[in-house]
Amino acid sequence: MPRYYRQLQPLPDPSTLPFPGNLIRQCSDCDLRGNCTAPVPGEAIEPHLVMFVGEAPGAEEDEWGYRPFVGRAGQQFDSLLAQVGIPRGTVAVSNICHCRPHAGRKNIPPTPSQTKACRKWLDLELSIVRPSIVVAMGAPAIRWFLGDDAGTVEHLHGHPIEKEGRVILPVYHPAAALRNTSLLRHLTDDFQVLCGLVKGQEAGDFTAKDEFPNPVYRVADSAEKLLKMDSQITGCSAYGVDTELWHRNTELWSVQISTEPGTGWFVPIKPGSRYVDLRRYPSTAVVHNYLFDADWLGIRDDRFADTMVMAYLTGQVQGLKELAYRLLGVQMRTYSEMVRPGQRKLSVDYLTEAAKREWPDPVGIEETKWDNKQGKIVTKLKKPWHISRKISGILADTVDSLDADPYQRWRDIDEQERQVVEAVLGPMPESSLADIPFDDAVRYACRDADVTLRVYLKLRKMITNLGLDFILSIDTGVLPMVHAMMKNGMAVDLDYLRGLSSEFQERMEQTATQAADIVGHPFNPASSAQVAAVVYGELGFTPTRRTPLTQSPSTDDKELKKINHPVIPPILKYRQLGKLKGTYSDNIVSC
Ligand code: URA
Repeated sequence: MPRYYRQLQPLPDPSTLPFPGNLIRQCSDCDLRGNCTAPVPGEAIEPHLVMFVGEAPGAEEDEWGYRPFVGRAGQQFDSLLAQVGIPRGTVAVSNICHCRPHAGRKNIPPTPSQTKACRKWLDLELSIVRPSIVVAMGAPAIRWFLGDDAGTVEHLHGHPIEKEGRVILPVYHPAAALRNTSLLRHLTDDFQVLCGLVKGQEAGDFTAKDEFPNPVYRVADSAEKLLKMDSQITGCSAYGVDTELWHRNTELWSVQISTEPGTGWFVPIKPGSRYVDLRRYPSTAVVHNYLFDADWLGIRDDRFADTMVMAYLTGQVQGLKELAYRLLGVQMRTYSEMVRPGQRKLSVDYLTEAAKREWPDPVGIEETKWDNKQGKIVTKLKKPWHISRKISGILADTVDSLDADPYQRWRDIDEQERQVVEAVLGPMPESSLADIPFDDAVRYACRDADVTLRVYLKLRKMITNLGLDFILSIDTGVLPMVHAMMKNGMAVDLDYLRGLSSEFQERMEQTATQAADIVGHPFNPASSAQVAAVVYGELGFTPTRRTPLTQSPSTDDKELKKINHPVIPPILKYRQLGKLKGTYSDNIVSC
């Protein structure tokens, strides 16, 4: 859409907009209103079968003033609609937020309170449109309709869900496909799903049904059961296998095996064990992420499959939970959901113990940043809160709210600050499946092996249909070598790399001298603060961008390249040499 349109079409008088746009246009219920041109109401807000809902207006929509999806994302949206033969005039379009949230020129996601303030308008629009199908475009819109815990876009896209008498179709946001063109394929497929829904297909026609809603999982805790499991593994062509760890992921807790869809064996492992050898079995061991499991399992190099690689090759999402939902219709709980109750108790006990002790005062942390008021770079000594205060804060919040996650809050504290406590009490203990009821743990653990086998059977067909068997054999074949390299390292010529390191160092020093000669004094071209002081302070250039976090003037390569001064090339050269030195030599030389 041409940027001059706004001049041709002045913003209409609110009273001339059709209801409810005229009301929305006058809203100032949240802080977004003061920072945008005007709210952008939904389009075609009248009864329609389909309503599309995005996130919030962008710059072009804000500028145009009364139509959602008119900018670049809008063009992508129009072209997706055209591909499936749905005229834009036959659908309603709106956003969860009607004003543009932005920081400078950058669009940013609306905050929960902004979204909440705008909820009434989308509710009103929905009540007028009464769509049977809502296409929720992008994560915020998907969350709006399906709730915060529904899952990620990768997980949900293209799978319609019936909710409160409507079908919600989650899809990627059209703007996401502008940034990452590989998503366009998913969007195109998902718009085909919409097409099917419009033609009368049911939501259920597009979602897999769990074929084994009551799986049978058993504990192999006797010689007889182990023998039975052994003969099943030997007799099958492929079996799913997975591991569970404990003691901070340093020991195996269990191995799970599934030789038939909908079944699983849970094999408890002797405390202290770090390895289980499965190489005697002739059948294919199917794992989800070989590079992880091969640390704990002996798997034959020529008899295994990795469903993560297969998912990658077929263009699917790679998480097992997401694959299980999309390919099998199985809803899986995450590991952290399972262990959270146990973790909460361990974390509270640890912090309670820490709260009883005296800890030294924190040391100050030096922070150099641009000071807007003074117009120069300043270095300040920041004193973090005392660790005891942070500990009591976490404990108080944990008592107040069941949602508070004391483990995560502790991990969010700077490592240097935590160190004071961890040096005395050790790291905060981590819970594992061993801390939850045994039956729950068995069910959770076996499900992974069962689902791995079932996902494998689906993916194997897809791979063959796509003619990718040969590529899969190559990609799978390199994994044992990559694993061995990760475990044992690689032989390198240290003397050569040391020589390379000194050569880069020498060239960096020459470049720094060159830059110093140009400005008349030495400075460190690797220090953003010093470069800013030279370029924006002494030489008087004006920064066009600031860093989002600290609001310091940007000195990144892109910004410096805009400046025409002889000191810039040596600064950029110095940085490039520094990167090469770090990548090719320092990391290895210092091992
Ligand atoms: N992105 C959105 O989510 N909505 C618009 O209206 C434009 C861009």
